[in-house]
Amino acid sequence: MNLVLMGLPGAGKGTQAEKIVDKYGIPHISTGDMFRAAIKEGTPLGLQAKAYIDRGDLVPDEVTIGIVRERLSKDDCQKGFLLDGFPRTVAQAEALENMLAELGRSIDYVINIQVDKEILMERLTGRRICKDCGATYHLVFNPPARPGVCDKCGGELYQRADDNEETVGNRLEVNMKQTQPLLDFYSAKGYLRNVDGQQPIEVVFADICELLGGLQ
Ligand code: AMP
Repeated sequence: MNLVLMGLPGAGKGTQAEKIVDKYGIPHISTGDMFRAAIKEGTPLGLQAKAYIDRGDLVPDEVTIGIVRERLSKDDCQKGFLLDGFPRTVAQAEALENMLAELGRSIDYVINIQVDKEILMERLTGRRICKDCGATYHLVFNPPARPGVCDKCGGELYQRADDNEETVGNRLEVNMKQTQPLLDFYSAKGYLRNVDGQQPIEVVFADICELLGGLQ
């Protein structure tokens, strides 16, 4: 089951990804999470990526493609994978096609979660994340029981440096500009499947499961 999950920031990729990997037992490969982990650990990759991420810009393709290539070569990707946040450019998509072809594999579906821009702005600026376990909350739509404290592990909640209003606006614009050629690329290949992301979380997930049922 070789999957790519697409959607603008805040579309619910992370939420749906968690549910998909839980149910189907494939690794969740999020380039955003990999960069954030590298920044936290202060690795050379983290130092390289931080300035781009804090500005809401994309990390250069050669850096991003390199980390995905390394990750896909790991044993746990044998039975499949769920890519989240990658590819973000046509160059990355082409590199992914080549990587998979070398392994004798190909993408099954590109699942695109569709949500309007106004709703995304509201979702993103209210997002809070647990420092310790990474659980996500929303000040309005999904608040924790105690303000600033994670329900799951008691960890401290924080706002991602790139979730403030100015950076969010920039991120959405950068993403929308980059996304259309990518959707066209995958549509032409016949991989693209659109899902309505403005429905409740469980309904979005049910739509995705229905689609993936054919692959089992
Ligand atoms: P995300 O968590 O997917 O929203 O990613 C957060 C930030 O990491 C993005 O705004 C980019 O700066 C960087 N990033 C994540 N994935 C990619 C990618 N595929 N290509 C370039 N930059 C990326």
